[in-house]
Amino acid sequence: MGKALIIGAGGVASVAVHKCVQNSEVFEEICIASRTKSKCDELKAKLDGGKTKITTAQVDADNVDELIALINEVKPDIVMNLALPYQDLTIMDACLATKTNYMDTANYEPHDTAKFEYSWQWDYKERFEQAGITALLGSGFDPGVTGVFSAYALKHYFDEIEYIDILDCNGGDHGYPFATNFNPEINIREVSANGKYWENGEWIETKPMEIKRVYDFKEVGEKDMYLLYHEELESLAKNMPGLKRIRFFMTFGQSYLTHLKALENVGMTSIEPIEYEGKQIIPLQFLKAVLPDPASLGPRTVGKTNIGCIFKGKKDGQDKTYYVYNICDHQECYKEVGSQAISYTTGVPAMIGAAMVMTGKWNKPGVYNVEEFNPDPFMEELNKWGLPWVEDFNPVLVDELPEEVKESELVR
Ligand code: NDP
Repeated sequence: MGKALIIGAGGVASVAVHKCVQNSEVFEEICIASRTKSKCDELKAKLDGGKTKITTAQVDADNVDELIALINEVKPDIVMNLALPYQDLTIMDACLATKTNYMDTANYEPHDTAKFEYSWQWDYKERFEQAGITALLGSGFDPGVTGVFSAYALKHYFDEIEYIDILDCNGGDHGYPFATNFNPEINIREVSANGKYWENGEWIETKPMEIKRVYDFKEVGEKDMYLLYHEELESLAKNMPGLKRIRFFMTFGQSYLTHLKALENVGMTSIEPIEYEGKQIIPLQFLKAVLPDPASLGPRTVGKTNIGCIFKGKKDGQDKTYYVYNICDHQECYKEVGSQAISYTTGVPAMIGAAMVMTGKWNKPGVYNVEEFNPDPFMEELNKWGLPWVEDFNPVLVDELPEEVKESELVR
């Protein structure tokens, strides 16, 4: 069917490449390009010999001219941006210049301030429309599948969705006292920021980890989860008509939080540059260098993830609730593609999102978040490519949880 240019060769890209090769009917050819070409070559060496033709290239995705030259050489149907959020705009610029479709799994982030907002990328909408190309934003799990779940719930089960709680549970254990499951810099920025949720048209800010609940997750068990801001809250608050409130909760173990608090207290999570022996360094980037590489967690992580959305709303005038989630086993993922479930649950929807655009199922000029497309073909593909989903029409709601676990005293 077509050709994809994949930028990045880290944890998520590795899974996406495995999945593109499995889906060779759509991905007849892929080019893997990243800053460190040897990582692309390693992936090619591992996966060559199947039906998908694989090439590799070196590219600095911060450099628009280099990107344009590469896109002109490869002539892909889509650029899959699986590098870091810092590269979103340069890659979108290169896609515009070459009239090539674009997709990513995380919103653009400037290096110097952690924002987690879509405004910069939404600003490209008209230019993508005029160029006749599609930009699909946030096609990972969260954002990504959580948006598809929301569109699916609205299409099939509700006249109006009033409340959404997104619950992201990682019940995995890698055996280290402290490590992050994906890029440490992005992960730590996300969890050390203030929490925020959207209610009645307004954003309500909380201190980091201020709101805690204990939820009993299917196939994982009881876990502490904390309210965080997460980027899909912004697009879903805008795209889900009639919504009254949307929140996001993620599980963290006590050891993780204690380490994070200590690192924060000594200044290691800061993104403000400091001078060290005559050189400017960013403490968070230095911290990344001393932490285990997320890719190395694969073989040692056991347990499961359970990520999904609980919806409450109205159908035919009646109150209705609906929970849809996916359970993913770290070791099963490792056996299949050599990565743990966090990379897997992101890399699979990245491949599916690109396939949606390449097959014309999700093709409309402009810049869109996943929930703005027909969810049905994406939901089918999730079942087919390793992320089957489960439905529960009578879930325990977050607001039903006992009062005494509502507030965390742990990390103030
Ligand atoms: P990794 O750090 O493992 O990989 C990032 C890759 O990007 C590396 O190969 C790196 O190259 C490459 N890269 C970085 N800068 C450049 C550059 N300037 N030019 C070219 N290549 C570059 O990250 P992950 O795979 O864990 O994450 C990838 C993306 O997925 C991130 O944007 C992350 O935020 C997002 N994500 C989304 C999730 C979701 O559910 N939506 C969940 C998890 C992650 P090098 O090897 O040289 O460093």
